[in-house]
Order: sequence, then C-alpha cells, then structure tokens
Amino acid sequence: MPDRDALFTPEFKPAPWWWETSPRPTEDLSNVPQDTDVLVVGAGYTGLHAAVQTARAGLATVVIDAQALGWGCSTRNGGQISTSVKPSFDRLRQHYGHETAVSILKEGQASLDHVATFVRDEKIDCDLRIVGRFHGAHTAKQYDTLARECGRTHPGFETDAWMVPRDQQRSELGTDAYFGGIVYPKHGSVDPGKYHAGLLRVAKSAGVQTVGNCAAGAVIRSKDGFTVETTKGSVRASKVIIATNGYTGALTPWQRRRVIPIGSYMIATENIPAELMDRLFPTDRILSDTRRLVYYYRPSPDRSRILFGGRVSLRETDPRRSGPKLHTELVRLFPELAETRISHSWAGTVAFTFDTLMHCGEDNGLFYALGYCGSGVGMAGYLGSKLGLAAAGVEEQTSTFSQIEFPKRPLYYGVPWFLAPSVAWYRLRDHLDL
Ligand SMILES: Cc1cc2nc3c(=O)[nH]c(=O)nc-3n(C[C@H](O)[C@H](O)[C@H](O)COP(=O)(O)OP(=O)(O)OC[C@H]3O[C@@H](n4cnc5c(N)ncnc54)[C@H](O)[C@@H]3O)c2cc1C
Repeated sequence: MPDRDALFTPEFKPAPWWWETSPRPTEDLSNVPQDTDVLVVGAGYTGLHAAVQTARAGLATVVIDAQALGWGCSTRNGGQISTSVKPSFDRLRQHYGHETAVSILKEGQASLDHVATFVRDEKIDCDLRIVGRFHGAHTAKQYDTLARECGRTHPGFETDAWMVPRDQQRSELGTDAYFGGIVYPKHGSVDPGKYHAGLLRVAKSAGVQTVGNCAAGAVIRSKDGFTVETTKGSVRASKVIIATNGYTGALTPWQRRRVIPIGSYMIATENIPAELMDRLFPTDRILSDTRRLVYYYRPSPDRSRILFGGRVSLRETDPRRSGPKLHTELVRLFPELAETRISHSWAGTVAFTFDTLMHCGEDNGLFYALGYCGSGVGMAGYLGSKLGLAAAGVEEQTSTFSQIEFPKRPLYYGVPWFLAPSVAWYRLRDHLDL
C-alpha cells in the first residue's frame, strides 16, 4: 500500500492547477446595481458569453456569481474541446428522427468552431489548439464497436476519424493498456483558466458589469420583469439569464429537477522530464477512453506535467482522497509514473441530464442554458451566445437544444440519491464490458 502523503508534493494544493497562472479575480463591487436590462446568474462560460451578446446589443448587463468570478467548472475543467454530444447518431435517430439527429450532431461540431472563432477574433491568449483526440478502447469489443462506427457514413453528417490498431498505438500514446483506439482530428485543447480570463476581459470591454461573491437567493416576477434578491442587494431586471449548470440550486426549481449534479475530479502531476513526456505522450492530443466512467487526460499546454481526470468514488469526496485514486489509474496506464507525485488535486460539479443532452430555452420568463454532461468547454460558449442573442431579441432561439423536450423524472428534485448505485453499476459494466 503506497504511503498516501508521499504521493503529494510538499507544495501540494487542493485547487485547480490552472489557478496558478489565472488566479480568481479579487476585485468586486460591494453592491449589485439596482436596475439593469439583463441580469445573468453565473459567471462561467455560459453566463459571460450570453452577457457579451446582450451588452453588444446595447442592453445594460450585469453578471453575478455566488463565488469569485469563474469559480465554477469554467476554470476547473480539463480543457478538452470536443463536439460535446454524448449520444450516438443511432440513439439520437431512434429517439428524434434522422433530421433532428443530424441537427444535434451538427451543433456539436458548430460549438467547437464557435469557441475557436471567438478566441481568434477576440485575440484571447489561451493556448487553444486543434490537436485531435485519441480515444482508447478499454476492451477488444469496444475497439470493434469504434471501428464499425468509424466505417459508417451518415448522410448530412460526416466525420474524418481514423482507427489506430493496438500494434500502432505507441505512435499515439506510451501505453499498452488499450486495445487500440480512434483519432478524432478536429478536437482541441485550451487552457480553461486563460480562456475564462480572456472572456471576462472581452465581457468587461463590451460594458458588462460583474459582481463576484454575490449569490442570487430569490427571483420575484413583476409585470415589467423581475426583482432578484442577492446577498449584495436587490436588482430589478427586464430579463434574467440562468447560467448555473452543475451549481443549479433552489433558486430555479424547474431547472434543478432536470439536471443531476455530479462531481468530476482532476489531478496535476509534478513536472516530469521532457524525455519521459515525449515517450508517453508523443503528440499533444487530448486523451480519453471508452469506459462509461471515462478517464480524460492530456499533457499541460507547456508539456511540463500531466493533467488527469475522472470519476473515482461512489460518493462525492475530498480532493485529498480522490487524488491518490486518480494517481492509481494514471499508473495503471503508465507504470513509469509510479514515483511521480501530485502537485494539485481538485473537483468541480458538472450537470448531467436524463437524456445526456444539453438544453437551453426559456421557462416562465427565465432564459437558461445548462446540462452539458461534462462537455461544456465548447458548448457552453456556443449556447450561451445563442441565449444572449435570444434574450436581447436579436435572434430567435434557433438551437435544436431549445426545441427538444428537457426531461425530468418522478421523485427527483435535485439531490441525486441514486448516484452511488449508478456509479457502482457503471463500474461493473466497464469491468465486465457489458
Ligand atoms: C474537473 C472537471 C473537468 C472537466 N473537463 C472538461 C473538459 O475537458 N471538456 C469539457 O468540454 N468540459 C469539461 N468539464 C465541464 C465544463 O467545465 C462545464 O460544462 C462548463 O464549464 C460549464 O460552464 P458554465 O458557465 O455553464 O458553468 P460554471 O462554469 O460551472 O459556472 C456556473 C456558476 O454559477 C454560479 N452560481 C450557481 N448558483 C448561483 C446563484 N444562486 N447565484 C449566483 N451564482 C450562482 C456558480 O458559483 C458557478 O460559478 C469539466 C468539469 C469539471 C468539473
């Protein structure tokens, strides 16, 4: 049994590694403005992208966050940018029909393009690169499934992925733990902390006012809008945008019944030698695998260390406990890292949904976009922007995610009592490849 404390560097921090270069902003208004056209609740990617659009449409816009700005998932994630949509084409087609299935997958691709275009146009320095993803098959059966899917084309929706057999795998990744895998060349990577900091700068220069450490406690409807009670005073707003994703709470019971908050956990290793990094990670691709309880990982943008994430416990836990468990998984893939210590370990709360799709729209006058199911780095900005345009009256809600049903379940009110048995079941299925 390894000595748990020896796994941590002396300078270990239970906080995101990204915060070393992009610390949480500290300057804050002490009061929230009393009146505004648009109030956005939540200062992550969704909220800030929405705010940029409403401010640029000429509307006075205030963004509040219960914690320091960007405290949520938007500065805690793995910085992997994918096409964001979890269900397969077949599953989407069975449920919604061919046309809607194609629209959903196309929006997934559009979300990736949106973030790349936004970052380029706004000149945000955040190490965004289209590096591609290697998705490893954790069993031979999963490799066959990936290969079958890769060989198919769906009219109206083409991908350009290719298979990597096991005997060529080391050109992608220094492990034999996978049975080969698939490369999606268009997926990208970003420094999420720098992306958020750049986005915040863009929002402020568009005229958005931001108020950190300001929790919204109640939304009261009036005939010409809303009054929102916050911990820094009340604010009257014509429009309110809810951008709280995995931290959605009692403020918005309708949304809360529809999202399942789940912790996702990450570690950063200490610096590793360049030669070892090049051997284990010969490319800059982002990595993930076919498990239902997926592991996602990558080299840091400067290739100094490895960032490794996943779900390692049945119940939510402390980063000091999740860190060693993630380390065990990292070493299972790369035995050479057994002596490499953990410099940072952290967690954040993502929002799953009952159909594993994201959703946006308007309920009872409140605009919302949420439920990214752990894949919001591209999609949150894409849907946030669309939401801002809709709230400003510049565009209709055109996203397919606003047109499909946002399902809820009986006896679910926002506390996922079924989480531990579900995680145990997924773990068993991964193990037995069911
Ligand atoms: C460890 C981890 C790794 C991840 N890795 C990836 C990845 O590699 N790729 C990917 O695509 N996605 C990833 N994700 C998910 C991704 O980060 C999120 O989908 C995305 O950041 C969601 O952005 P958001 O703006 O909607 O929510 P958030 O950034 O979570 O912001 C929501 C904010 O709402 C605030 N809030 C909540 N309630 C209130 C209230 N009542 N009043 C005021 N403020 C409130 C919260 O304080 C929070 O700051 C990861 C998430 C985690 C936790």
